Amino acid sequence: MDPMEIMTIGKKVLREETEKVQEFGQDIPEFIENMKITMVESNGIGLAAPQVGDSRKIITVHYDLEKKGKIIEMINPEIISFCDENEKSEEGCLSVPGITGMVERPLEIEVRYQDIDGNEHVREFSGLNARIIQHEVDHLNKTLFVDRLSYAKRLMIKNKLRKLEEKARQG
Ligand SMILES: [Zn+2]
Repeated sequence: MDPMEIMTIGKKVLREETEKVQEFGQDIPEFIENMKITMVESNGIGLAAPQVGDSRKIITVHYDLEKKGKIIEMINPEIISFCDENEKSEEGCLSVPGITGMVERPLEIEVRYQDIDGNEHVREFSGLNARIIQHEVDHLNKTLFVDRLSYAKRLMIKNKLRKLEEKARQG
């Protein structure tokens, strides 16, 4: 399996509505395997289907990254609760190459999602796990981390973003 092409900011698919997975056929595990390969090859720690040009609600996440961990997948993930405590930390994104910035997010979340067989799970995540999942679920909601940066930071990266967007539209 070859890695898929990463869609960068400016590509329409990153700003389009995503669809819930309804049928758990053989193409789902194959697609997820390919997402994992693409994520690893690109040195990513999370990936959402729109980033490889697919509008289904699927994400892969490097779980427990600090302890080496493993890559997990979530189908139709939905964040059903957030804790009150927020944390600011630096983020980047394979779809926004060359740009990083501080993003404030809740420290703990509760997520409802389905596995590869369609079974439903509800689980709590905290710290970096929670941050990566929120970043990836944002992708499923047409949101990029740069949308969440401070106004001052967005002004600073405005030209860089414009260049990336022009490049993506031409390519
Ligand atoms: Zn991203």
